[in-house]
Order: sequence, then structure tokens, then C-alpha cells
Amino acid sequence: MVSPTKFSERETGKMMTMALADFKLKKSYFVSVEHDSDLIQFITELAEKENITNAAFWGIGALKRATLGAYDQVRHNYVEIAIETPHEIACCTGNISLKDGKPFVHAHAVLSDEKGNVKAGHLFKGIVFAAEVLVQEFDVPRLERKFDELTGLSLWDGGINGN
Ligand code: ZN
Repeated sequence: MVSPTKFSERETGKMMTMALADFKLKKSYFVSVEHDSDLIQFITELAEKENITNAAFWGIGALKRATLGAYDQVRHNYVEIAIETPHEIACCTGNISLKDGKPFVHAHAVLSDEKGNVKAGHLFKGIVFAAEVLVQEFDVPRLERKFDELTGLSLWDGGINGN
């Protein structure tokens, strides 16, 4: 058992705790993502195949096209941004947790064009030209998402408190 570190507290009084210092790395995967695959789908399938229930990941590479999103905090829906031309993945970062009992990939990306101009946001879809992703799974209890009324998003249900 580890003692939880207070992570954040909402006005609603719902406390989210994470024992930050006690997360042990369970397994790491260096993944070369298949050409023409969808990055999100590819990582989801990796998680399903390897039984990954929680992880953090980072990726770089290039996409042929992509769909990014920006969340409308008033309407509680995503505005989609279509990227129809090749872009570098200047940075992609995300996590894997469980939603409805299945691995769910949440990723954000910063994509740059041939002039270095960037577009960024929530990554819905990214058709891969080439990409290298490091997935790090931690030795922690199940990390589940649950619908959150306040934001309209599926958020981590209280985080992980080490119990
Ligand atoms: Zn997002």
C-alpha cells in the first residue's frame, strides 16, 4: 500500500488522488507504426493484443493526413479540424486507460507542415507515413474512465490512489 498524494480537488469536493512517486514501470514497447495505418487504431490494437490497461506514450514521425479536434467547452462537443496534406508529427503524446472495460487511447498531437507551421489538438485520426512510438505501461491498478457531467467528457474515475 502507498500513501496517496493529493493531486487536485474540485469545487464539487471530489478528490482525485495519485501516488505519483510509487508508479513502477511494468513494460515498455518501442513501436514502429505500420505505414498507412491509423495511429489511434494501431495503438488501440496493440493495447488489446498486449492487455495494456494503462500506459503513457510519446510518438514522432509523419502523417499523410489527419483529423484533429478542439473541444467546445460550452456545447460539449468536438470541432473537427481536417488535415489533408502530409505533416510531421512534431510531438504526439497520450495515454491508455479503460473505457467500458476496453483499452481507450487518448492522444494529442502537434503537426507541422513544410514551412514549420503547426496545427495541434486532440488526435482523432492520423494516417501514418512513418511513426515511432514509445509506450510505457505502469504497474498500477485498473485505470477506468467514467462519464463526467461537468465537462461532458469521459475522465479518469478518481485517478489511482494506490489501494
Ligand atoms: Zn483530447
